[in-house]
Amino acid sequence: MSYSLQQGAFIIAGLLFILALAGLSKHETSQRGNVLGSIGMAAALVITILGTVLGRGGTEGVTVEAVSAPPAWMIAAILVPLAVGGVLGVVKARRVEMTGMPELIALFHSFVGLAAVLVGWVAYLEGDTTKLAAGELFVGVFIGAVTFTGSIIAYLKLSAKMNSKPLMLPHHNLINLAAVAAFLILTVVFVLVQGDNRPLGYVLLAVMTLISLALGLHLVASIGGGDMPVVVSMLNSYSGWAAAAAGFTLNNDLLIITGALVGSSGAYLRYIMCKAMNRNFISVIAGGFGSDGAVVGEAKDYGSHREISAPEAAELLKAASSVIITPGYGMAVAQAQGAVADLTAKLRALGVEVRFGIHPVAGRLPGHMNVLLAEAKVPYDIVLEMDEINDDFESTDVVLVIGANDTVNPAAQEDPTSPIAGMPVLEVWKAQQVIVFKRSMATGYAGVQNPLFFKPNAAMLFGDAKQRVEDIIKAL
Ligand code: NDP
Repeated sequence: MSYSLQQGAFIIAGLLFILALAGLSKHETSQRGNVLGSIGMAAALVITILGTVLGRGGTEGVTVEAVSAPPAWMIAAILVPLAVGGVLGVVKARRVEMTGMPELIALFHSFVGLAAVLVGWVAYLEGDTTKLAAGELFVGVFIGAVTFTGSIIAYLKLSAKMNSKPLMLPHHNLINLAAVAAFLILTVVFVLVQGDNRPLGYVLLAVMTLISLALGLHLVASIGGGDMPVVVSMLNSYSGWAAAAAGFTLNNDLLIITGALVGSSGAYLRYIMCKAMNRNFISVIAGGFGSDGAVVGEAKDYGSHREISAPEAAELLKAASSVIITPGYGMAVAQAQGAVADLTAKLRALGVEVRFGIHPVAGRLPGHMNVLLAEAKVPYDIVLEMDEINDDFESTDVVLVIGANDTVNPAAQEDPTSPIAGMPVLEVWKAQQVIVFKRSMATGYAGVQNPLFFKPNAAMLFGDAKQRVEDIIKAL
């Protein structure tokens, strides 16, 4: 295997990753995107492992075999953790519920961050570095360390192993700014002195590593639980940049390409989330929103709510000619997507037009609802985005709000003092009848009361969403 063959394989793997991202942008092509990404990753792994096991250090014009192969213990040190990590990854990914994906992703990001820190340190320990390489490794260690501790805190908050309330130290924004300023100064000093004075280089690298570990910890600890999924996409982006920085340090083009793809797609995901939640990224970093699910702001008296039974809901649906279903996080918790798909099929067989309205941040990850509905084989053409369907509620007979709350909350439009004021929402209350599936009058993720439940055209169908949908199917 020659150096150019290895580089060629890396370029093909990079192209497969780009095609995978393109495929993942639409649900019709998402499975193909996943397959392409997996093939790219498998190819990248095989080529990297072969290159390492057969002989490290291949450069242009030199066959990799021509460079001495590492000793057996080093090969074992590469292959054994790889096998153990691979098995653990498969087991964990197979077991995780969709609702647990954000915390699993956060955990995985922490590994990328740690890897970037170790790569930077090893590169400096290995010996002489140019000024440019020294700058790259310093930045790589910084991003990696922030990603490492930040992701661990995000994992702990998302998995409820730690209080999701924002940690509000006095002058917390100033603390973050001071840490970034210290990093910038240390970078300049490190680049200037590390070649001539290596002991000082180690001290600077160690001090900066500690500062960035503390910064990651403090940055994410100061952000409330409500913003945590945005933080996960931010850390996703950082983990990509950390990998790209490690790629520069290791002179590995594939790592640079992959890191840049992850970094930029993570940044774009963060932009989509902030836009859909009407959150400004700086205010997310400044912390404070959606602290712990308790009612935020002044508790208002919206009057009394009306209840409906499953057979009554079935009667309403039978009489309707158009129905829109707006699923939310509760559908994922209840694992009601299969029952919802069955209900959809039954209503369509009765001649009722059924469509789905998907809010961009329904659930706990963008695309969460689309994945569940695709898994339940709901036809793609009746699943519409919020912008595509919002004007149609007015002419709709019945809306079924299945486990959604914040994403259908009219307070976002009607109450400028609401913590979710300005967040675009599905305007379900404009329909003739709205049936809300949930277990209680509890608030949603943002911890704000929902005046929809008290509107005269709304009725609550209490209980587990899957159970209630099945009851309606029986009654139909
Ligand atoms: P919410 O989290 O606002 O509400 C979900 C509702 O589901 C709850 O009110 C709960 O009420 C109900 N529920 C829970 N379990 C069940 C069950 N088994 N059966 C029936 N109902 C159930 O959901 P939305 O999807 O509307 O909103 C998503 C929230 O997450 C938004 O605030 C969004 O900003 C936030 N978020 C989402 C992100 C994303 O990318 N998707 C990213 C960042 C934040 P009860 O307990 O009474 O049953």
